[in-house]
Amino acid sequence: MARTYTETQVIVVGAGPVGLLLAGELRLAGADVVVIERLTEPTTESRASTLHARTMEILDSRGLLDGLGAVPQETRGHFGGLPLDLTLPTPYPGQWKVPQIRTEELLAEWATGLGAVILRGHELRGLTVTGDHAEAEVAAGGEVVHLRAKCVVGCDGENSTVRRLGGFAFPGAAAGRELLRADVDGIDIPGRRFERLPGGLAIAARRPDGVTRVMVCDFGSTAEPRSENVEFHEIADAWKRVTGEDISGGTPLWVNAFTDASRQAEQYRDYRLFLAGDAAHQQMPIGGQALNLGLQDAFNLGWKLAAQVQGRGPEGLLDSYHSERHAVGQRTLSNIRAQALLLLGGSEVDAAREVMGELIDEHDEVRSHLAGMISGLDVRYDVGAGDHPLLGLRLPHWPVRTGDPQHPGEDSGEDTTTAALLRPGGGLLLDLTGDAGHGDLLRSAAAPWSRLVRTVTARPTGGTPAGATTVLVRPDGHVVWAAPAGGAPTEGLTRALTRWFGEPATHQTTAPATNGRTDMGSLSGKTALVTGSSRGMGRATAIRLAKEGALVAVHYTSNEDAANEVVATIEKDGGRAFAVRAELGVPGDVHELFLGLEQGLKERTGTTTLDILVNNAGVMGGVAAEDTTPEQFDRLFAVNAKAPFFLIQRALKNLPDGGRIVNISSGLTRVANPEEIAYAMTKGAVEQLARHFAKLLGPRNITINSVAPGITRNGNPAFDIPEVVDQMAALSAFNRVGEPQDVADVVAFLASADARWVTGAFIDATGGTLLG
Ligand code: NAP
Repeated sequence: MARTYTETQVIVVGAGPVGLLLAGELRLAGADVVVIERLTEPTTESRASTLHARTMEILDSRGLLDGLGAVPQETRGHFGGLPLDLTLPTPYPGQWKVPQIRTEELLAEWATGLGAVILRGHELRGLTVTGDHAEAEVAAGGEVVHLRAKCVVGCDGENSTVRRLGGFAFPGAAAGRELLRADVDGIDIPGRRFERLPGGLAIAARRPDGVTRVMVCDFGSTAEPRSENVEFHEIADAWKRVTGEDISGGTPLWVNAFTDASRQAEQYRDYRLFLAGDAAHQQMPIGGQALNLGLQDAFNLGWKLAAQVQGRGPEGLLDSYHSERHAVGQRTLSNIRAQALLLLGGSEVDAAREVMGELIDEHDEVRSHLAGMISGLDVRYDVGAGDHPLLGLRLPHWPVRTGDPQHPGEDSGEDTTTAALLRPGGGLLLDLTGDAGHGDLLRSAAAPWSRLVRTVTARPTGGTPAGATTVLVRPDGHVVWAAPAGGAPTEGLTRALTRWFGEPATHQTTAPATNGRTDMGSLSGKTALVTGSSRGMGRATAIRLAKEGALVAVHYTSNEDAANEVVATIEKDGGRAFAVRAELGVPGDVHELFLGLEQGLKERTGTTTLDILVNNAGVMGGVAAEDTTPEQFDRLFAVNAKAPFFLIQRALKNLPDGGRIVNISSGLTRVANPEEIAYAMTKGAVEQLARHFAKLLGPRNITINSVAPGITRNGNPAFDIPEVVDQMAALSAFNRVGEPQDVADVVAFLASADARWVTGAFIDATGGTLLG
């Protein structure tokens, strides 16, 4: 039997909504992940279908909410069957019934689009944890496969194999009651909303497709409560006893049962093993809280685990997953047990229901307290000292207008929301004060973390909400620092950045990644524009940056098919890209390019942030000096020198602190070639541009460098003539012509975090052609 070893950074067990959201979060933060799933096909059962407000916000802060359709704003909810208005200050109050299959589909598409690998038909059989890795023994199609990773996360539900194999204690209360559930076709019974009848509880809701979901709890049942192996005739009998209605003639499409058992893993983390979702907590799915609790576990864990496996997680960060989410789980389990009691208790709970109903109806603070708890909006983590009201809470979703980072007071930004600002992943230092001097102070204080935390200046546009100040927000949307009222504007900021994002000196290094990426530093969550990337070195650069995880805009001017081929190649490899057309060197060129670029970025990330600009497009001259016309000269300068200058000028609105600019020059600025005087002059101009911009952009930690290729194979017919290639190869110390990838690798390095200390430089990528 084959023993195949495969390595990754994180293994997620279970491709349900929780595992898939976690996989996407890990990828977004740059970690490699393999999801293993026992089922060979996605489930067709919709066990959990309620999305609560916080979950909708989370999906919005990854740009995923729109993919589910229009949010219905249904604020009618319940607490233990007592009507409860779920209205709260959020764009998505209340609950939304979305079939679990649809949520799973959306999350799977997102996670795989980011490069997560999902292995179906893979069942976990064994787990071994050692000092430096965890190994999973997996049964797959009659074979045993061994997967090795730094960590394994069990998102494998109530009967979690990871929990069992990892020996996690799972204490709690055993089941006392069961609720039977069936989706039935061909019956016509009255709708019932949490009807407590003398013999039991009955719920009936007809769906638009004519199928009726019935749920029944028979108060007089003496059967042992179970969560599986239930037959439709048992449900029909219970329904008859409780309501007097006969549904036995209907066609059951799906039957199941659940109990009020309530258990929680004592620890959510045991060294290299983690639990999330129902694997960590078992509860009655009253009010649809279970799925939401699980998704929020994943959202809390993803960025922390990614930091850890890439070697940049600060001490204690991973342990905060247990401390934060266990406490939330415990509280949610309590509210679910209280609800189960009110809902499924017999006449002995009537008085408690009466009192509770009165409190909800007559005291809005009781109503909003319960709504906050059920929606997940009131979750506040212990993030350290401070008295700002937002500390520890999720950043509210406010409409804002971003401002030019250098001129925060100007009305030059775009209308967006605080949710959209979180979409690229990573931390967010959000300055909502609109104070010009403030922005510079913050930027310089946060500069050492600029690859992990974006600094954005914005002003609320929906009135100034209470608590709008400068806040540091974790990738999961929780506020971990707020500028103290009356104190120095950056007081405590460095401490908070270090606590959540690591030491400034070490946070830029990353551990070796797998899945084909290098250890140079991932560009996950970054966006890049490569001009002239339909072919040649631009093409190779676009592919390379996408391989590092960047979303790449593939720019071209005439050859749309070639640009689309580059996009398809990137996507086939699990990367993300889109094509943008604009002719450079003509009036309006920069405007046209940025129209397409910003639209493409906004659609995919929710913002127009551009992290990396590669000015690669260029035209050669090939005309002797005496034959060069003024028009040819102008054209060379317009495409090769003027366009890069104005592209940079425009891109500075989009580039965050820590951004990267790489310009492609030429070895001809160092060796003489009388055929290319004008061309070489354009490249000389580009090199000057880098030198002087470098000084200007240093304070924002934006680097700008020139890469000078030598003779590089670019599809020109000359490269098909062996004698010509031999002559060209002889110029290089390596006796070969350059390949586009030779240059792309150098550009990728300059775009990476590791090149943070290189700016204004001329990088010789000529393969030793300039050695003389
Ligand atoms: P290439 O194969 O000639 O491709 C040029 C790319 O630039 C194409 O994507 C093309 O788009 C685009 N482009 C050309 N003119 C444009 C314009 N006016 N507006 C917009 N896009 C335009 O390029 P390459 O040989 O890989 O060269 C890339 C860069 O390296 C250039 O800056 C070049 O000067 C420099 N370089 C090349 C060599 C070499 O030996 N190849 C050596 C030193 C430096 P379409 O395909 O849509 O036309």
